[in-house]
Amino acid sequence: MSELSLAYIFHQHQLLVDENFQLPQVERLASDLHFNTGDQVVARDLLEDEPIPQGLQLVPIRQLLTLWDTRQFEHASRAIQLLEWRKNHKFCSHCGHRTEAHPTEYAMICPACRYHQYPRVQPCVITVITRGDDEILLAKNAKNKSNMYGLIAGFVEVGETLEEAVRRETFEEVGLKVKNVQYLASQPWPFPSNLMLAFRAEYASGEIKLQEEEISDAQFFKLDQLPEIPFKGSIAYAMIKHITEGHPVADDTREWL
Ligand SMILES: [Zn+2]
Repeated sequence: MSELSLAYIFHQHQLLVDENFQLPQVERLASDLHFNTGDQVVARDLLEDEPIPQGLQLVPIRQLLTLWDTRQFEHASRAIQLLEWRKNHKFCSHCGHRTEAHPTEYAMICPACRYHQYPRVQPCVITVITRGDDEILLAKNAKNKSNMYGLIAGFVEVGETLEEAVRRETFEEVGLKVKNVQYLASQPWPFPSNLMLAFRAEYASGEIKLQEEEISDAQFFKLDQLPEIPFKGSIAYAMIKHITEGHPVADDTREWL
């Protein structure tokens, strides 16, 4: 008889949960990704043409951010990233042979040349920029049709320090120079596999000049007159609250898993 496991079952960027937003129990399959070994938790994609089981629903992962605690969300985030990584590494990037999953590690191994492929995260810097004691720079993403204003963010380039990435992204996106770049905290972000590294920096010089394909508007806002900001649970929200209300960005009270 098969044993039952809690399962993260994804369909694109949605997760299958019950009416209380908890994970279902399922029979394990040989193709499951074993996850969090201590608790017998598995992860898989909803099979092609598989109907949604009675009593379960597909919920966007972003929505779970607001319903779950950080630890639960980070587990789901880890599960989807590992599944995506496995799907995208079916072949050896060195010789092109079909790969096999390592029996105990998160690695895809090539049986022909023994090349090992491991999951990688993309470091991405996100910066909250202040001017004086009472102003914060917020920017509207050109691709986002809502009225939400967020923070300056972008990928770290090869050979660049995190601080250089902060200065470069700020200059490219809004034409400003910043100083006193300081690290705040980090958050894994599964869209698709980023590690968001949060910094704060102070305005140094320059006039706002938008990189129009990325940013449709950017302004320094008074702390008591902010526009719509990113949703609670995102690191951008925590960073803005850190400036406006002095809340810590990282929750250091969390228990280690
Ligand atoms: Zn190979």
